[in-house]
Parts: sequence; structure tokens; C-alpha cells
Amino acid sequence: MALKERPKPFLLPEYCKGCGRCLDACAKDCITLSDQINPLTGLIPVELDLSNCNACGMCMDACPEPYGLRPAHEGEIQDFELEDPAKLFGVKPSEAPEPVDIPSEVLPLPRTEPLVIKGTYASALGALLAGCRHVYGYPITPSTEGAELMAKFLPKLDGTFIQAVSEVAAVNMMYGTAGAGLPTMTFTSSPGFSLMLEGVSYMIGAELPGVFVDVMRGGPGLGNIAPEQSDIKLACHGLGHGNTHAITLAPSTPQEMLDLTMLAFELSFGRSTATSCTGRTSSRRSSSPRATSRPTTTTSTPSTTR
Ligand code: SF4
Ligand code: SF4
Repeated sequence: MALKERPKPFLLPEYCKGCGRCLDACAKDCITLSDQINPLTGLIPVELDLSNCNACGMCMDACPEPYGLRPAHEGEIQDFELEDPAKLFGVKPSEAPEPVDIPSEVLPLPRTEPLVIKGTYASALGALLAGCRHVYGYPITPSTEGAELMAKFLPKLDGTFIQAVSEVAAVNMMYGTAGAGLPTMTFTSSPGFSLMLEGVSYMIGAELPGVFVDVMRGGPGLGNIAPEQSDIKLACHGLGHGNTHAITLAPSTPQEMLDLTMLAFELSFGRSTATSCTGRTSSRRSSSPRATSRPTTTTSTPSTTR
């Protein structure tokens, strides 16, 4: 009986994330890392030189991507381009309304007197002005007042506020809402933010936008409610578990809590990624020399812990 020839691998560079597992698996040194970034993915795929390949199949077993390295079966099409189904089969009939662009509109607010307000409230107002109507959270001092304000306002604005059973539940509700194309956010604080990190990574991986307002605690572990800035390090380097970055904004005044929360929604939607807005608890005052169209604000240090 004739032995069946084992297939050699072929590569679809669009599906290769450049993890290098196939390089380690190949004893014949047939696989090298490319020196070119694939413009379709932004990743660096591998390159194959199969002149020494004995078709052992170790590289295909090592590849975690279902369509990265595949066996080159005889007759299989190894090079193809995706085609527009409308060209192949005609336009699919649909009764759905035609999408139209809704241009963004900036509405000037009336001149107001300076307003004294907490940074968490300022952030909540910024989120409402940015169009966020879906907020989920699990209470944790010193961020809770922002969620409390949302719980009062959102039902009157046809919005949704849900106090989830945990931080893990809250971030996964955000995942679902962002997947439906809607702006969403949460208020949390350092140890609560830690509990959300797996969900943040999932959102980054799925390119879903979401805004996380992290009102930082001080110190390691559960921490305390003193002013602190150490979550900046986590937000800048830890989100996505090291394989990517999320946008991180660091407001230092309540006025910036409002402004940067609005900006966070714009940035997260523009770049389809999670954005963290890391504020801190403090009694710092933000003042404006004149009446402005936006609140002039101050924060206060909360007096209770979770
Ligand atoms: S089939 Fe075996 S020899 Fe060929 S490239 Fe893969 S690991 Fe290397
Ligand atoms: S194992 Fe797969 S995804 Fe990783 S570098 Fe090799 S071909 Fe690419």
C-alpha cells in the first residue's frame, strides 16, 4: 500500500499574530519572523522557506490560530481573495431603512455662575453630555457618588443604570452594550478596577469602546481612601495584560474630570478601545476666574469605606 504523502504547511499571513510558537516547533529552521509589518493586521507574521521541510507537521500543531498555518493539501487553493457577495449573488433584498449620517452637534450651554461639585459628579455630567446612557457598576468608595448620580439621572433620560452583582458582572455588561454599538461606562476604584481587568482585556481584544472612571485609592491591596496616583502605572502598562495598551487620561481637577470624561468617550469610540480616566481622591480645588459655560468644581475626600 502506497504511503500517503504528508502535507507541508502553508501560511495565511492575515491570520498570523507572530507569536513565534511555530518557530520554536520547527527543528528544520524553515520558519523565520518577517521584518515587515502586515498592513492589514498591524502584526509581524512569520515567513516560510520549505526547502528543508520534512512535513512533520509540528508547526501546524503548535499554531494557536485556526487559519494561521494549515496543511497544503493537494489541489487546495492556497492563495485567494475575499469577494463581495453582492457581486457574486446580487444585492440581498432588505426592508431595513437606509443608514444616514447623523452629524455631531455642539450645543452651547448658557452662561452660569461657578458651581461647586464633586469630581465624581463632574465626571458623571461629562458622560451624560457625551451621550452615555448605559452605566453599570459595583459600589466602591470613593467612586460611588458618580454611580449614584447616574442611578438618579438615567431613568429620566431613557437610560439604564444597573448595580451589578460584582465588578466582573459590571464589565461584562459593558462588553455587551459596547458590542451593540452604544457608549457605556463604569465608576470604580483601585481594587474594583483590578477585578475588572479580565473584562477590560476582552474588550480591548474585541476592539470594543468603553470608559472606566477609576477614582484611585492609596496603597497596595484594598488600599485606603487617601489621595494616590499609582493606578496610572497599571492603566498605562497593565491593561490588555501586556499585549496592548488602552488610552489613559489623568485628570487632576474636577473640571478636568468633566472635560476628560467627555474626551474619553470620543477617543474610545474613535479608536475602538477601552479608555480609563484615572482620577484621585483629594480636596484640591479647581477655580475659574470668570463665569463659564461649564461648572467650576471641587472634590472632597469621602469618609466611608466599602
Ligand atoms: S512541517 Fe515540520 S519541518 Fe516543515 S515547517 Fe513545519 S515544523 Fe518545520
Ligand atoms: S504559531 Fe501561528 S500565529 Fe504564531 S507565528 Fe506561527 S503561524 Fe503565526
